Amino acid sequence: MPTSFLDAPSPDASLPDENGRFGEFGGRYVPETLVQALDQLEAEYNKAKNDPEFMEQLKVLLRDFVGRPSPMYFAKRLTEQTGGAQIWFKREDVNHTGAHKINSTLGQALLTQRMGKTRVIAETGAGQHGVATATACAHFGLPCVVYMGEEDVRRQSPNVQSMRMMGAEIRPVTTGSRTLRDAVNEAMRDWMGSVENTHYILGSVVGPHPFPVIVRDFQAIIGEETIDQSMERFGRLPDAVVACVGGGSNAAGMFFPFVARTDVPLIGVEAGGHNDTPGQHASSLTYGRPGVLHGSFSYVLQDDDGQTDDVHSASAGLDYPGVGPEHSHWKKTGRVEYRSCRDDEALATFDMIAKTEGILPALESSHAIAKGIEVAKERNKDEIVVVCLSGRGDKDAAEIQRLQSERDAS
Ligand SMILES: *Cc1c(COP(=O)(O)O)cnc(C)c1O
Repeated sequence: MPTSFLDAPSPDASLPDENGRFGEFGGRYVPETLVQALDQLEAEYNKAKNDPEFMEQLKVLLRDFVGRPSPMYFAKRLTEQTGGAQIWFKREDVNHTGAHKINSTLGQALLTQRMGKTRVIAETGAGQHGVATATACAHFGLPCVVYMGEEDVRRQSPNVQSMRMMGAEIRPVTTGSRTLRDAVNEAMRDWMGSVENTHYILGSVVGPHPFPVIVRDFQAIIGEETIDQSMERFGRLPDAVVACVGGGSNAAGMFFPFVARTDVPLIGVEAGGHNDTPGQHASSLTYGRPGVLHGSFSYVLQDDDGQTDDVHSASAGLDYPGVGPEHSHWKKTGRVEYRSCRDDEALATFDMIAKTEGILPALESSHAIAKGIEVAKERNKDEIVVVCLSGRGDKDAAEIQRLQSERDAS
């Protein structure tokens, strides 16, 4: 029998604690006006996860609307070419809307209804979370407003069009760097004035408690299915599991059910961008320092005065100066190893996977695959490495072409 994702054995069931802390990380750094809404969300979520009717509704949606379980696929030609451990992909790219984000937006849309709220807001960077939120809202008939940096609206026009077609209103954000972090600020500002009737569907395992735990739990189906599929196929667990880390939701969902299985190494992959100079990458865990960003205490890329650094990654979904607090805890305790993958490695991997496997992976996922290959090379042929293929790469095709012609010209 497949286990429910909420049965995931926690290494430490007390985490987060009642203050939303994963060790020293997490918590709630928000204005008073939001505390009540966060308390309400936490209470409703705790009721929902113990309500068989809620769990059944979510299960049916994930099966019939999203297409779960997602397959676990043996990348045979890639494995032969690599010459190390077997490489398997957990195919979140074949979900409806093409990535893992829908797992969490459907769960949160159901919670919105349970709380009797009638309006949804969200932030988005590349537009993937915006599309997944607009999709969930169209499915339930909920009005949806998506905050998106003006710069990102320009760069991600196909996603902007999809959101509008599904009835979402896009509000371009013109403050700061006009990208994801400014969109989160604007969404939080909206929420402060609208909490009575509005739920904020946050896109990753970031933000104030209880968001990191709710999003992790909704994404934990990735790791649960991987465990079931590994037991079925191999009669045992994989020898290593790899996932990319932006805010950290696909990785948290993949890793969480494995965290208690301490003999399975877990590897998170951050965006190494151009190089390790501040502003040129988005590796918060590798190069950041603990600080507060968007209502949570976690590793943040910041300067000596505590100003948040600019960030860069070729992949818009990894381009974030912070990371979820549970990842900070896993880094600090050593349970997860974090590596950093540069733009050029990710682009070369995208190219190789397209040609050897007939799959266009998202640029985000290409970071995970690049390091998955590295891990496979460190291991024997009879070992198994599972990489979370978090999303499809069609959205990246134009940008990849632009970068390739830039490179060819130089
Ligand atoms: C958004 C996104 C990511 C990064 O977000 P996480 O919260 O770190 O998972 C990774 N891959 C894809 C395909 C995405 O759309």
